[in-house]
Amino acid sequence: MSAITLSSEEKSVLDWVDGEGDSMIAAVRRWSGINSGSRNTDGLKAMQAELKDAFSRLDARVETVELAPSETVTPDGEIKPVEYTPALKVSARPDASVRIVLTGHSDTVFAVDHPFQTCRDLDSDTLNGPGVADMKGGLLVMLHGLLALERSPWGKQLGYDVLISPDEEIGSLGSGPVLAQLGARADVGMTYEPALADGSLAGARKGSGNFSLRVKGRAAHAGREHHLGRNAIVAGAAFAKAIDALNGQREAVTINVSRIDGGGAPNVVPDVAVVRFNVRVGDEEDAQWARQGIERAVADINTRDGIIADLHGGFTRPPKPMTPANLRMFEWTREAGRTIGLDLKWNPTGGVCEGNNLWASGCPNVDTLGVRGADIHSDREIAKISSFTEKAKLSAVMLMKFARGEFDAREARTLARAL
Ligand SMILES: [Zn+2]
Repeated sequence: MSAITLSSEEKSVLDWVDGEGDSMIAAVRRWSGINSGSRNTDGLKAMQAELKDAFSRLDARVETVELAPSETVTPDGEIKPVEYTPALKVSARPDASVRIVLTGHSDTVFAVDHPFQTCRDLDSDTLNGPGVADMKGGLLVMLHGLLALERSPWGKQLGYDVLISPDEEIGSLGSGPVLAQLGARADVGMTYEPALADGSLAGARKGSGNFSLRVKGRAAHAGREHHLGRNAIVAGAAFAKAIDALNGQREAVTINVSRIDGGGAPNVVPDVAVVRFNVRVGDEEDAQWARQGIERAVADINTRDGIIADLHGGFTRPPKPMTPANLRMFEWTREAGRTIGLDLKWNPTGGVCEGNNLWASGCPNVDTLGVRGADIHSDREIAKISSFTEKAKLSAVMLMKFARGEFDAREARTLARAL
């Protein structure tokens, strides 16, 4: 690939982005102070009002999208629906021949009663606050990339859909179907998770699944009729041991038993247990291997007298390997970075995000286009102030190159189809 350069029109668009730095930082300070934990409906709605306002600056249609409920297994073994706050969708030029999907999330991992609720300055380049990096800062980067595109002479040549979901930190089970739909009709995807503090991006991502095994036994008095009881916790523990033994057998596969619910008074044989676990895989074959191992363990538990076990959940974020199509997206990102003096690198990660969902629908993407940050999901979360305009310019260059056809987004999509 020969080195790309910037035209004078492109440079003047980037100058405009530089002038937006202070207003981006003012916005992220305000947004960081709005608690939007994934379960805080009022906070998510307040964030959404801010986002609606901010994204209304674009020449695009802004609307809310209802999300279908998902299912959860409660601690006492009931299956219950989980409702979600609607997502925000912003769409422009649905008939454009090149289409991009941009995704992000308005939720954070910090619940409304978490002590970490405000934003402060650690030094002249470092903000510490909930969501400053993950990913309220990233949403501002996305918005300013799009605003920059629209100020350029090529803005009208690109169509896009933005989805800002309220449930990324709890697995995107509500927004998953919408991500799949938008991913299927876009050529390439851009997601705004934070980059590492040194600027490096997440490359290949593992796939992830969350499962719950519901185990039913039979209650009995622990003293008078212990022999008539069928202990669901003991059966569940045997299952936990069996799936834990799958660790270390296949590279890239990990199984984490995370929680066992069940039981009550010491004088009752427990009749319900729920074993919860997370599975990470490197590719589709790993996923099949893991699924078979888990199903064998379920079948084994079901041979126990008086015990019935059923498995819930599944792989919600399939693996995102570094295929030629995804690699092309990274190369373009690096090329765009070079025009503004960045030397971008990427490394594989066991973490998962909406980039996995987009790839599952065949959409090549880069998913760490947000601000530079560190220590996310903790009260030490930081974002680098200088990275807001830096990353908005990176997105602006990429979007302009896609619009002009210098980066051929449809070619990346064709590479993905060739798999
Ligand atoms: Zn995030």
